[in-house]
Amino acid sequence: MLKGMMLDRPLSIPAIIDYAAEVHPNAEIVSVTVEGGIHRTNYKDIRKRIASLAHGLLALGVKPSDRVATLAWNGYRHFELYYAISGIGAVCHTINPRLFPEQLAYIVNHAQDSLLFFDITFAPLVTGLRPKLPSNLKYVAMTGRETMPAQDGLDGLLCYEDLLAGQPDTIVWPELDENTAAALSYTSGTTGEPKGVLYSHRSNVLHATSGVIGSPRAFGSDRKILPVVPLFHVNAWGLPYSAPLSGTSLVFPGPKLDGASLFDLMDREKVHNSWGVPTVWLGLLNEMKLRGRKPEGLAQVLIGGSAAPQPMIETFERDFGVEVCHGWGMTEMSPIGTLGTLTPEMEQLSFEERIALKVRQGRRLFMVEMKIVDENGKELPKDGEAFGELCVRGPSVASGYYNNEAATAQALDAEGWFRTGDVAKITPDGFLQIVDRTKDLVKSGGEWISSIDLENAALGCPGVAHCAVLAMPHPRWGERPLLVVVPKPDAKPAKEDILTYLSTKVASWQVPDDVLFVESIPLTATAKISKLELRKLLKDYVLPTAA
Ligand code: ADP
Repeated sequence: MLKGMMLDRPLSIPAIIDYAAEVHPNAEIVSVTVEGGIHRTNYKDIRKRIASLAHGLLALGVKPSDRVATLAWNGYRHFELYYAISGIGAVCHTINPRLFPEQLAYIVNHAQDSLLFFDITFAPLVTGLRPKLPSNLKYVAMTGRETMPAQDGLDGLLCYEDLLAGQPDTIVWPELDENTAAALSYTSGTTGEPKGVLYSHRSNVLHATSGVIGSPRAFGSDRKILPVVPLFHVNAWGLPYSAPLSGTSLVFPGPKLDGASLFDLMDREKVHNSWGVPTVWLGLLNEMKLRGRKPEGLAQVLIGGSAAPQPMIETFERDFGVEVCHGWGMTEMSPIGTLGTLTPEMEQLSFEERIALKVRQGRRLFMVEMKIVDENGKELPKDGEAFGELCVRGPSVASGYYNNEAATAQALDAEGWFRTGDVAKITPDGFLQIVDRTKDLVKSGGEWISSIDLENAALGCPGVAHCAVLAMPHPRWGERPLLVVVPKPDAKPAKEDILTYLSTKVASWQVPDDVLFVESIPLTATAKISKLELRKLLKDYVLPTAA
């Protein structure tokens, strides 16, 4: 085979911030800080602090391949760590502080982190965890001298700003092989122990690039983007890389994620676009309804991480003129797999037709390949009808799990495709429609009922604020659906009314066998409905039809 004659230069994460500092020096990074107040910087100045931090890490003895952990909100220091750690060849291990303490301890021990950086709000959490963490782990509080937390239980605690002080503000990055590990993120462990996904410089650069290509209206030097999705959750869906790559300004919300705080921040900073999971948007939409308007400048939201409910998409688009882009992905895909960007022809369709497209999870990013297979691994047609397990392939898709041979052995199918554990349909024009997670499908008498479809339908019912569908054991059908509902404040929806409403929206055999009213539904560490917890809570519940 004749080989191309081009230079073989490695893809590198620090090259992104170098590029942004040079080409988009004045694009801003605005952060709500944990200490209180707003911090403003830009790509040119933050590049200097990243260089100083990198020198500080080297002075602390951080070596290539060392895992350096973070437990922090979305803010400029966390962003600096992303680049400084990966830039010197170490691995930026972001940890989700909302996990249970046992899971946090498991993750730090499994990853064998050598340093742990944390926001001062997490000082009590870290103090409590310390006895369960490796004895040689060093701790750094991400703040200045004047706001350092008390040292009780954290002796030897280092100060972030001290690490930077006096260090040079320029650096020549070491040249790394592009397949060098750069970042580590554990799945939230909705099914068993958390599993580590180890990203490389190459995979993250390619993912960020295809993210910009796949969502062109979100990025650009005249845009401001607000990641509500945390930097501790799968690289905030790639935004800390794709924003500087495209010169897009970043607005970081810090710990303030309630609807009112997000509204005020978006309004003040004229945020153009924001990314997050559906539960976050429930809060913002409530605030928008209360104030009778959208935050000034907000043009688009990206909803991903779990299915975007149709009523939510409709409210954003029809009531507030905010365009919705629905995305799907997973930790193992860096994480974006598909985005719901429409073509100009699709934009011309009627409101109902556009919504029908947006309820689907969008189309694949460049470099992501998708197929659906039956239980024997045989590929099914992409006809929008057949559904089976979704498998994916691409340079930003995991080939296995960090130090976990058992999970790695099951990750790929015989042809080397990653098995997602999601059940999906794919239409001839490439739209992905997630039917369910394999384990959440309701298997009723040989037919499958999508819990996502039922939840979507139930959310359209007056009086329903939040809901979840669970498969419940049934002596005749194997499983039947149970609908768990959190009513809207001041609403008292009747079970019969909800079931009657649903019978006009779904086939009669899909209508749930019962409705259970609750005050709240448990959420996972990534603010998704925790069906695992809900199942535990309802372990003694028996469907009336099964009694
Ligand atoms: P975890 O399994 O720890 O929650 P992720 O955060 O990586 O891990 O979640 C990935 C899963 O979330 C996907 O496999 C899929 O089941 C679900 N998911 C993500 N986005 C969507 C979406 N837009 N619609 C439906 N499900 C989604």
